[in-house]
Amino acid sequence: MAAVGRPLELHDVRIPPVGDRDILVKVKAAGICHSDVHYRAGVSPVRPLPITLGHEVAGVVETVGSSALTSVRPGDRVVLHYNVTCGDCYFCSTGNEQFCPRGLMLGHFTDGGYAEYIVVPARNALPLPDEISFEQGATLMCASATSFHALRKARIRAGDRAAVFGVGGLGLSAVQLAKAFGAIEVFAVDRKEEKLELAARYGAVPVNASRNDPVQEIRRQTAGRGVDVALEVIGRAETMHQAIRSLAPMGRAVIAGIGNEPLSIDTYRELLGGEAEVIGSNDHLLQELPQLLEMARRGILDTSRVVTRTIPLEAAAINGALDALERYEGGLRTVIVP
Ligand SMILES: [Zn+2]
Ligand SMILES: [Zn+2]
Repeated sequence: MAAVGRPLELHDVRIPPVGDRDILVKVKAAGICHSDVHYRAGVSPVRPLPITLGHEVAGVVETVGSSALTSVRPGDRVVLHYNVTCGDCYFCSTGNEQFCPRGLMLGHFTDGGYAEYIVVPARNALPLPDEISFEQGATLMCASATSFHALRKARIRAGDRAAVFGVGGLGLSAVQLAKAFGAIEVFAVDRKEEKLELAARYGAVPVNASRNDPVQEIRRQTAGRGVDVALEVIGRAETMHQAIRSLAPMGRAVIAGIGNEPLSIDTYRELLGGEAEVIGSNDHLLQELPQLLEMARRGILDTSRVVTRTIPLEAAAINGALDALERYEGGLRTVIVP
C-alpha cells in the first residue's frame, strides 16, 4: 500500500535482514480481512507508508536468527501472531501484551504477509499442525483468535446460553467456540440467510434479524430469560444495544465489533437493574493461540467452510477482493496464496 485511498500496488521489495532473534518465513497463505479494507480506505490509519498489508499469515520457516529462542526450525509449518510486542514492558510481563506501548501489528504498523517472504520475531511464530491447511491457519490468527479472546473475556461457562450478533468469519468461530466452552445453546443473529444456514450447521439456533426483532426472538426462545453471554462482532450501535438488551440477569455483553457510533443505553433497565456487564474486547493474546490451534487440529473448531476463495499474489486480484469486501460481497474469506 503506497497511499491511502488508492489501490494496492505490486512492487519488488528487498527481503529485510533477519535479526538474531527473528525468523524468515516463506508465506504460503495470507488472509484478506475486513480491517484491510479500512486500512486501504484510510478509515483506520496505517503507518509508515509504503507498507505491505496482511496480518493473517501462515508459511514455512526459511531461516532462524542465530540467538532466536524458539522451537521452530527451517522447514517447519508456522502461523504468525500478528501483534509484535517487546515482551519486557509492564503489559507484556503481566500477560496483556495487546497494550504494549511498543507493539506493532503486522500489516498495519510493520510489513505484513501480502508478500513472498516476511521477517518476524521468532516468538511470534507458532507451529501449525499438519491437519490444518495454510489457508485455514492464516484465518485462525485473526477472526478465530479474536472470538476466542472475546469469549474468555465474557467468562463463559458450562451451562450458559449465548448469542452471537454477526456470523461472518468471527461469528462462525464464536458459535463453535462458545459450544466448546460449554454453552448449551447459542443463538446466531444475522440478516443474511446463507450465513445463518452455515451457523445452524455448526449447531447454532439461527435468528434472522431482517424478519424478527432478535431481542424478542431470543427472549421468546429462552422463556423470557435471555442469554448469559452476548457477543457483538459487527461494530454497530444498534446490534450492540440488542446484545445488551438480550441479556439475562447478571449477563455479560462483550463488544468486539469495531465501529465508531456512540451507544446509548437505559442505565437502570438495561445495566444496573439486572447487574449486566458490558465488556470491551480487542485483539487476542499469544498465550491463547496454542489452545486455539489444538482445538482446530482436533476439529472442535472447523473453519474449513470459512475460506471460500484463494487468489494469487497479484495487485488486481487483491484489490478486487478488497473491493468485494467493501461492498460486503465475495463470500466469507479470501486468502492470498503466493
Ligand atoms: Zn484480520
Ligand atoms: Zn511490551
